[in-house]
Amino acid sequence: MDFIKEIFNGNFMPHGHCLLWRGDLLFLHVGGDLLTFTAYMLIPIALVKLVKSRDDFRFNWLFLMFAGFIFFCGATHLVGLINIWNGYYYIEGIVKFLTGIISMVTAVMLWHLLPEAISFPSRRQLQQKITELQQAEKQLAESNQRLEAEVKKRTAQLEKIATTDELTGLYNRREIMRILDVEISRVSRQQTALSIMMLDLDHFKAINDQYGHQTGDVTLQNAAASISQGIRKTDAIGRIGGEEFLIIMPDTTIESAYDHADRIRQTLAVQKAADTAEQGCTVSIGVAQFLQDDTLQSFIQRADETLYRAKAEGRNRVCRSLSE
Ligand code: GH3
Ligand code: MG
Ligand code: MG
Repeated sequence: MDFIKEIFNGNFMPHGHCLLWRGDLLFLHVGGDLLTFTAYMLIPIALVKLVKSRDDFRFNWLFLMFAGFIFFCGATHLVGLINIWNGYYYIEGIVKFLTGIISMVTAVMLWHLLPEAISFPSRRQLQQKITELQQAEKQLAESNQRLEAEVKKRTAQLEKIATTDELTGLYNRREIMRILDVEISRVSRQQTALSIMMLDLDHFKAINDQYGHQTGDVTLQNAAASISQGIRKTDAIGRIGGEEFLIIMPDTTIESAYDHADRIRQTLAVQKAADTAEQGCTVSIGVAQFLQDDTLQSFIQRADETLYRAKAEGRNRVCRSLSE
């Protein structure tokens, strides 16, 4: 309080030419200059902090120029404040001159920069661009999803084509052999039973010769459908040759495989007997169970030999491999 009283009782009053010995004028000048000086010191600090934390800003140097220019303006006010009591006019002149130079440089640079700064997209334009980009991204994601689904569909189609026999819709030779290979590895590990049957339609050539190839195809398709209807969900069936089929029966002993085969044989025989156009055909079947020393080739060979025995013994019959 004493300090404030000192100011207003005239003791701080400088030479009268400047402020006419008036306390209120002194207060206005000192207060104004002090406030301006404080603000002009705080603004450059804020600008430097901004530049330091945002090195991505394009015009950082301009902020620094502004910081310098405001700092010098602040310094001018400070010297002006001191000069109320002391006549440091030389120092004030130098500071003012420096302020003028840096102000001019900043002004020129600002003008120079103006066209580029004006051409900058506005916040609203940027927001619009962002929205457009987001929409494009969404569309891209959607079309990617569609493409992925299409690729999945096509892959499944290709997989089906690669693994399926076109005429009968059963597995083709390559696929059924792959499945057999997998089952053989499984049975070797798990010590369970694995049986296969090899089927060959009887006198099929005669159907082709008598009714033509197209009718032969239909007979083949019908026979394939009947045979595959008779298998269990866990079994797999494939067409391994012209009118030859292979059925894989996991967890099946030769006894039940034999019964199963005979039911299939009977079905075809009954169908042939009922077929008024006489386009049905009987089937001969060789059944074999996987043995410990078997390989895929020896297993298939035993079933094949058994099938030929069924043929030799008169066809329309099931034979079981003699090795079991
Ligand atoms: P077997 O009882 O000894 O088996 O006599 P088969 O006439 O059935 O045997 P063979 O091997 O002499 O003849 C098989 C016939 O199957 C010969 C071939 O023309 C016919 N064939 C093979 N694939 C197809 C096909 O996709 N469509 C038709 N229509 N016939 C086929
Ligand atoms: Mg045949
Ligand atoms: Mg054949």
